[in-house]
Amino acid sequence: MPVKTLPKSVSVLIPLALPAPYDYEVPDGLIAEPGSYVIVPLGAQQILGVVWGEGTGEVDPKRLKPILEVLDVPPMPEVLRRFVDWLAAYTLNPRGSVLRLAIRAPGALEPQRMRTAYRLVDKRPARMTPARQRVVDTAMDQFARTTRELAEEAGVSDGVVRGLVDAGALVPVDLPTEAPFPTPDVAAVSKSLSPEQQAAATTLRERVDANRFAAILLDGVTGSGKTEVYFEAVAEALAQGRQVLILLPEIALTSQFLERFQGRFHCRPAEWHSELSSRERTRVWRGVAEGRARVVVGARSALFLPFPELGLIVVDEEHEAAFKQEEGVTYHARDMAVVRASLGQFPIILSSATPSLESAVNAEQGRYERIVLPERHGVAELPSITAIDMRTEPPERGRWLAPRLVEEIANALAAGEQAMLFLNRRGYAPLTLCRTCGHRIECPQCSSWLVEHRFRRELVCHHCGYSAPVPKACPSCGAEDSLIACGPGVERIAEEVAERFPEARLAVLSSDNLRGPQSHEEMFRAIEAREVDIIVGTQIVAKGHHFPWLTVVGVVDADLGLENGDLRAAERTFQLLQQVAGRAGRAERPGRVFLQTYMPEHAVMRALVAGKRDAFLKREAEARERVGLPPFGRLVGIVVSSENAAFAQKFARDMARHAPQAEEVSVLGPAPAPLALLRGRTRLRFLVKATRNVNIQAYMQAWLGEMKVPAAIRVSVDIDPYSFL
Ligand code: ADP
Ligand code: ZN
Repeated sequence: MPVKTLPKSVSVLIPLALPAPYDYEVPDGLIAEPGSYVIVPLGAQQILGVVWGEGTGEVDPKRLKPILEVLDVPPMPEVLRRFVDWLAAYTLNPRGSVLRLAIRAPGALEPQRMRTAYRLVDKRPARMTPARQRVVDTAMDQFARTTRELAEEAGVSDGVVRGLVDAGALVPVDLPTEAPFPTPDVAAVSKSLSPEQQAAATTLRERVDANRFAAILLDGVTGSGKTEVYFEAVAEALAQGRQVLILLPEIALTSQFLERFQGRFHCRPAEWHSELSSRERTRVWRGVAEGRARVVVGARSALFLPFPELGLIVVDEEHEAAFKQEEGVTYHARDMAVVRASLGQFPIILSSATPSLESAVNAEQGRYERIVLPERHGVAELPSITAIDMRTEPPERGRWLAPRLVEEIANALAAGEQAMLFLNRRGYAPLTLCRTCGHRIECPQCSSWLVEHRFRRELVCHHCGYSAPVPKACPSCGAEDSLIACGPGVERIAEEVAERFPEARLAVLSSDNLRGPQSHEEMFRAIEAREVDIIVGTQIVAKGHHFPWLTVVGVVDADLGLENGDLRAAERTFQLLQQVAGRAGRAERPGRVFLQTYMPEHAVMRALVAGKRDAFLKREAEARERVGLPPFGRLVGIVVSSENAAFAQKFARDMARHAPQAEEVSVLGPAPAPLALLRGRTRLRFLVKATRNVNIQAYMQAWLGEMKVPAAIRVSVDIDPYSFL
């Protein structure tokens, strides 16, 4: 008796907030392998999904719905699927939500549009005219061209070309509409490396050749040539036929980087970040999937690109907090890049002049290999760093720059050099206060002060973007002309600089006046070309840039980052100030850095002035180890929020009662978050602290499994939090 065979089924993961894949039937005639992109029915919709594996058998075979279509793109590589699973489990996000990060190029799954071009064949029309002859002569080289291109090159009308097509002398060919990806020239000679650089490069090449996982901390002072050195590893991976991913923390760094890459490999790499047009995203996504794009330079989301042959990841400025994705699926791109490399069995290079404490400890404990470049390249020396004690050398009333710093700037300008003032605060003034009643103007939707932006003539909330014109009268007491700006932002520093140095050419750099890579590129070019004398900027100027004429750097408020009490405040302040300092004196002329501080005795200031980075990191590590903070312990941040304050408080208390008891896990909170109100939502925080051996994900799942979250409440869980606001 013939046995009726069961339909073949596969499980399909759908990029929605769904925890698991669903089973679907593979109809006869369709081939759906693991990783295939498919269209499936979901309720009344048709939706894109990815075949995740064999069917689970959980659905009655008779009720299986069929896959409707298998898309004509290379299947998602297995290692990327495992990465999605891993990241979802680690960050406690639904797998579908993580998958969504991997298919964020809307057009990429549609067939590539083609354009019709024409090629000359050996057939001539019966009637030849001089115009037609010109087209034939042009097309003689056998290159395919569109009608328009042929007409333009031959200097004839489109009609002449069409006539030749009708006569069969020109035949159509389909050309892709997308620009191709140039091949990096791996044989190009690099700069001649110093012996230390050479030794580092050789080690990196060996790691790439070994074709297995290795994490290497490339720890070199600013200007030591880390980029030149890791380019050698990139060249090696490319020569081995592998793809390469270079992660940068910010778009602002891309333009200079692209140029350097071009200098070394004679072509531009593919770019991946939020400011690409969707068309360009499609091109890059497809180029990566098909293996045509060999090198991608990108922001953290580039980790989810479907590389079939990835063989090296470089994380540049690995200490940067910007690698932490703070919204939606929260993950740390540096840490996840290490996971990606380990799943793919290839090396990863973490590069920094100020390594994160996490990476430093990993190197210390032998989990990462450390390669050190102790000196600046060539004649450049590390800048001298001096603290200016603002208690003994205060600026004049209403000013922000100490006399000594002003004098140093004047000296630099007189010598034809550039100076830079750094203040990590956008806008004109961080606080607007009423002189009459003491009222402080706050955001109506957030617990934060509104920041005055004088160029825009507005008060702006830096948390939610709310903005309003600066009022004439105090909103509280009604007194006119009584509002005063308290404290400086970059715009106010720029105002003081313009008054003090009216002759100097001034550039203000902050995310408010630099939008998009284009404007960055132009600004950095102008600085390099010495079209600017004084730069005033936020953290945008702190990182990565190479300004050969910059010799004096002034940090307007070195204490700024120390004010917030989070566990990394000292570490981050140290890193940021060290990076800013690293902009000075990168060429022949030595650099001088001045830190304006009210706390010159603070450990961060002392370490910076004395150049004792390692001792500082060691002390920080010891302090964290004593109290079991990361990387010696685990943290989870939980935010409970609602538009209804009482509701949020009640739910948070309820949650606290359900927290499972576990040795080695302590739950702190709920407490009002430092940002107790954000975009109109009241926020309460928990902090879960555990020892390293605890499976914190299992703990959290047990806890959250107990809770039924009502629609009006949002609970966001942040594994390894970096923000505690
Ligand atoms: P880092 O990344 O460590 O800050 P870079 O790689 O940016 O250092 O190098 C600093 C500057 O020195 C760059 O302008 C770079 O081109 C130059 N440089 C570094 N190494 C060499 C070398 N071996 N030969 C010539 N120039 C070099
Ligand atoms: Zn706000």
